[in-house]
Amino acid sequence: MIVSINYITIAIAVIILIMLILIFITGRNQNNSIVQEFYSLGTLNQLKVYGKNAEKAIEEAVKKVGEIDDKMSVFKNDSEISRINKYAGKTPQEVSKDTYCVIKKAVEYCSLSEGAFDITIRPLVGLWNISGENPRVPNSNEIQEKLRSVNYKDIILDETESLVLLKNEKQEIDVGGIAKGYAADAVREVLLRNNIKSALINLGGNILTVGKKEDGTPWCVGIQDPTKDRGEFVGTINVINKSVVTSGNYERYFIQDGKRFHHIIDPRTGYPSNSEIISVTIISDNSIDGDGLSTGIYIMGLYKSIKLIEEIKGVDAVFITKNKEVYVTSGIKENFILTNNEFIYKKEL
Ligand code: AMP
Ligand code: MG
Repeated sequence: MIVSINYITIAIAVIILIMLILIFITGRNQNNSIVQEFYSLGTLNQLKVYGKNAEKAIEEAVKKVGEIDDKMSVFKNDSEISRINKYAGKTPQEVSKDTYCVIKKAVEYCSLSEGAFDITIRPLVGLWNISGENPRVPNSNEIQEKLRSVNYKDIILDETESLVLLKNEKQEIDVGGIAKGYAADAVREVLLRNNIKSALINLGGNILTVGKKEDGTPWCVGIQDPTKDRGEFVGTINVINKSVVTSGNYERYFIQDGKRFHHIIDPRTGYPSNSEIISVTIISDNSIDGDGLSTGIYIMGLYKSIKLIEEIKGVDAVFITKNKEVYVTSGIKENFILTNNEFIYKKEL
């Protein structure tokens, strides 16, 4: 009798132990990712990181993004970009490797987009002040005057000394159209150095995925519906180790007399770009490429843009037009899934 009670006690103890182990394992799975939100680069960012070094990796990554913001923000008087602008037409400025890399890459995309992307756009961005407290529609004289300063060919670079000079006084650069991409790639570098195998980097809606999801499936990234609030999608794509960056007219804008004035300025006119595209998403390996391309491509118009993206190996795009048509480049035709029947998926141009 005593022996049988012992057996029952042991059996119950084993069952309890198994249950405890199961609860522990499930708990660990649920908490195996750390999600951190933080404000930097003028926007809200989110990192979702899996793995045992997640906490340390996130701490380092947030610090790195803050450093990039300090070096490259036009809103910080002591940033390296502000210093280049202040000494335009006067003295070459020595800058960090980060800032030099961003400017060099930006100039490549200025040239590739035939000047649609032009980081010397800052005088016009400042005039419109779309991201500021009192945005306004400038008069055409003001626009013409500022347009005279816009020309990326006036950016003089000296790689050996890490020097940057703008040829003429009054010229100013703004790397807001590419810095988030650089920062996302820098975050990925920090995560990989910390042995992280799975993460979702979201810098103000620009996504960079590291590896696969923890369960081994690809990340499913939604393409924002440009006509609705954040979180409503036109379609989805599945990605592993890819950057998904969008430029859209819904990101920053103001409305005057019923007309929307958004933050992507066409360097040919000085006004917010008015092509048929209202959103373009670039899918690429590195986020700096996606970001550098998205802003220029937005301006270039549908036909020229599709042609350009098809020519770049490893890069794809999703275009959404004013009349709610969706076009995708050949590399992601099978991957893109339309989830919103207000839009029409046009498989051919
Ligand atoms: P994105 O969200 O990457 O398309 O970048 C938009 C930001 O890039 C704007 O807020 C401006 O700071 C800057 N920008 C606006 N127009 C241009 C342009 N034509 N070329 C380069 N940068 C631009
Ligand atoms: Mg961009």
